[in-house]
Amino acid sequence: MKISNLELPVGQNWSCHGCGDCCRSGMAIPLYPEDRKRIDQQNWTHADGVDPAKIIVMGLTSARLGLQDNGACAFLDAAGRCRIHAKFGEAAKPLACRLYPLVIHPAGKKLLVGLRFSCPSAAANLGQPMKEQGVDLAKLARAFLPEDWGEIPPPAVSSGSALAWPDFLRFVRRLDDSLAGETFSIGLKLLRALHWLDKVEQGKLDQISGEGAEEILDALMANASKKIPRLPAKPAPPSRFGRLFLRLMVLENARAVTIAEVDVRSAHRWKMLVAALRCARSSGRTTAVREELKVVKFTEIEHCSSVLSPASEAVLTRYFRVKIQSLHFCGQAFFNRPLIEGFRNLALQYPIILWLARWLAVSAGRTAVSDTDVLKAVSLVDYQYSYTPYLKWRTQLLQQRDDITKLCAWYAQ
Ligand code: SF4
Repeated sequence: MKISNLELPVGQNWSCHGCGDCCRSGMAIPLYPEDRKRIDQQNWTHADGVDPAKIIVMGLTSARLGLQDNGACAFLDAAGRCRIHAKFGEAAKPLACRLYPLVIHPAGKKLLVGLRFSCPSAAANLGQPMKEQGVDLAKLARAFLPEDWGEIPPPAVSSGSALAWPDFLRFVRRLDDSLAGETFSIGLKLLRALHWLDKVEQGKLDQISGEGAEEILDALMANASKKIPRLPAKPAPPSRFGRLFLRLMVLENARAVTIAEVDVRSAHRWKMLVAALRCARSSGRTTAVREELKVVKFTEIEHCSSVLSPASEAVLTRYFRVKIQSLHFCGQAFFNRPLIEGFRNLALQYPIILWLARWLAVSAGRTAVSDTDVLKAVSLVDYQYSYTPYLKWRTQLLQQRDDITKLCAWYAQ
């Protein structure tokens, strides 16, 4: 695989700083058959500090890495290092571990690379520029992509048939252009992008291709900037339905979903049911769903300020742009959803992140969000993004009621 096949995210840095967060997350790490074979051949014994009977957990159709009693990976040692890495080198680790937090998505002749911001180093933009990591990433892509990755068809833009990759990628590039630059807030940029995509859908312009498409998209984007010159001073409030679904989505992103918790089925479900009922009522207090998100009054969250600093604006802009540049919002990378629906769902992450940041701030006794709250909220949201089941009917219902735009505008204040 040539490095020229790779498109790396602009303005994004990343190196693993060995914090071990991903190894302590308690998530199910899938093992491919070749991973299992390799681990079997590594002949782990009690003398290595692991219980050989607990390093692989077999399900009905798949296998995953085992966990220690504290939820950490079975191979994590007391010093926070991976025993497989230490004994056999990086290439001996399971593929999912080698890849995290990177994502690599085929797009015609190209491979689009992105990152999960659930990794603190990715969220904080720490480490080596991604642009300099092409050689290593090409090797990694070769290790896990199928031979026929170039045959994967593009997703549809809307409900019509799919375009050719170059025409589809024109829409993606224009979405990225919409979110680029530092002149405007990310809230305003998302509103404008939602606006011109609505026009594409309403005008049945999802089949435009070739040179003419550039002009049409230019005109739609210019029109969006004219129609929405600034964030609305008095935004229309989201409907009760929109607010309810926002709170439930916040809850989905706030909870700590570890194998251990899910295994204690009745207790976990009861706790989440109580939290969901409180969220649905939206009066009284939240439930504490993790250490940093305490029991606080809903009114305190609604009154907390989420005016963003330039640093937080930059984090959110980078987050959304990396998602778009790596196609991590539609097609095979996101439940086979078309571009427009996938982007609407992605835009919904914005009010979810701001609501979570407010909850973090209020939990810490503050009345305005800090940069740390925003960074943490982005990490929490991206921890679940594209892993938890996607409810397409929810995005579609919210769109029908114009609640996606309203929620973005409301929480951008
Ligand atoms: S969370 Fe990120 S920085 Fe921390 S160990 Fe995992 S990949 Fe490395």
